[in-house]
Amino acid sequence: MLPDFFESMLQLIVRTSTDLPPDVRAAMRTAVAAEPVGTRSSQALNIIAQNIDLAVDGEGAICQDTGMPTFEVKTPVGANQIWMRQQIREAVAEATRRGKLRPNSVDSITGKNSGDNLGPGTPIVHFDQWERDEIEVKLILKGGGCENTNAQYSLPVELPHLGRADRTLDGVRKCILHAVWNAQGKGCSPGAVGVCVGGDRTSGYTHAKEQLFRTLDDVNPDARLAELEASIMAHVNDLEIGAMGFGGKVTLIGCKIGALNRLPASFFVSVAYDCWAFRRLGVELNGATGAIERWLYRDPSHPIIPMLVQSGFTRTGREVALQSPLTEEVVRSLKVGDVVLVSGRMFTGRDAVHSHLMKHEPPVDLRGAVLYHCGPVVVKEGEGWRVTAAGPTTSIREEPYQGEIIERYGIRAVIGKGGMGAKTLAAMKAQGAVYLNAIGGAAQFYARAIKKVDGVSLMEFGTPEAMWHLTVEDFPAIVTMDAHGNSLHKDIEQESGERLETIGV
Ligand code: SF4
Repeated sequence: MLPDFFESMLQLIVRTSTDLPPDVRAAMRTAVAAEPVGTRSSQALNIIAQNIDLAVDGEGAICQDTGMPTFEVKTPVGANQIWMRQQIREAVAEATRRGKLRPNSVDSITGKNSGDNLGPGTPIVHFDQWERDEIEVKLILKGGGCENTNAQYSLPVELPHLGRADRTLDGVRKCILHAVWNAQGKGCSPGAVGVCVGGDRTSGYTHAKEQLFRTLDDVNPDARLAELEASIMAHVNDLEIGAMGFGGKVTLIGCKIGALNRLPASFFVSVAYDCWAFRRLGVELNGATGAIERWLYRDPSHPIIPMLVQSGFTRTGREVALQSPLTEEVVRSLKVGDVVLVSGRMFTGRDAVHSHLMKHEPPVDLRGAVLYHCGPVVVKEGEGWRVTAAGPTTSIREEPYQGEIIERYGIRAVIGKGGMGAKTLAAMKAQGAVYLNAIGGAAQFYARAIKKVDGVSLMEFGTPEAMWHLTVEDFPAIVTMDAHGNSLHKDIEQESGERLETIGV
């Protein structure tokens, strides 16, 4: 068999998880330069840029959600694909053991995490043959937050703010604009979209995701689609959704469109949204040994240019220091737009914890607590634990539970990303609590603000879903929902919706 194949797959996974490709770095550098210094979007992009640098320097996961590993493999005719699939699976398990991938494969019936990223459907490996001697393997790691913002439209369709989208390229344009607007900051903008016009529901989504294997700066060989891509990019940033949905100049860094034939009765437009942590790399392997002969998307002989010259959170002097546990008085003094630096005790809790708290008493006293929507990557060190990646997860998933949990247990602050809905906002007003938006995907940056793991509860839910007890210092976030009924998310959605009417029609 191919003696170097396993090691090559391991290298590909580790490099993809920790180092963004140069085209994405270049687009993010342009985004950083576009935002006026001192704005919320600029501060968010600054943290993102530092996070990108920290990840590659320390070979840590760029984002704690290392996503669904999706491999696209091309092999010479006659190659043993069964053996290769097995080797890829073993490399995925090894990368998970080394903390480069978070255990992300969950049994959909029992909720049990397999712990090694292996299970029915994970990882995804697609094979194709080609008439060449080399093997090509491309990998994309696309996380849950952005995957949840994917959208599929069946045309003709009536769209809010845009009217009717017909079965034309103009209808496709409206669908793409609507998908980006609808994503707001929930998919960790600025993001990129892969789009498929046509196909059926299944092939449409697959082809849309395949578009994300194109570089952001390529030009579509189909002149009609190239024109549509250019038209989207020329106008979409006028929505001013900005980084993390904070409002700002850069919402999208790429739009790549493909087309498949369709049935006469169907006209689907499928949109695959990827976040700024757009992890995609590839390798070309020697067909006899499996050794890496060439990297795709990156040239290892070129030095990696850091995103920023300085590090650390850029302070404006207006930041509010918060010491947890929090009092009602302190929380009620905060308002939307305030930048806070949280120190003290923080508890993580996401889907499984919220569902648990609806039926059981919490394992710790949550009065005055800061609850962090986060599924960290944590490694065991001796008797203790160390967090190696810890960015926020998408909060809206907890909307059915959050308000009741805040009121029942006296939580004063919830940290997450993308904001929450009307029920939570009402509970925050009644109880005296705030929502703090951290920067999605900034897993390395936030891991460094965590000074200690003090303990863990509910470990039976698996590492990402357990309740971790953390001590943090100067953990930066922005108040986007306050205890007076104000929500930045609601405002930006409304304002960008009005802009969508001008841009899209
Ligand atoms: S950057 Fe955001 S959307 Fe992307 S994988 Fe990380 S948490 Fe998910």
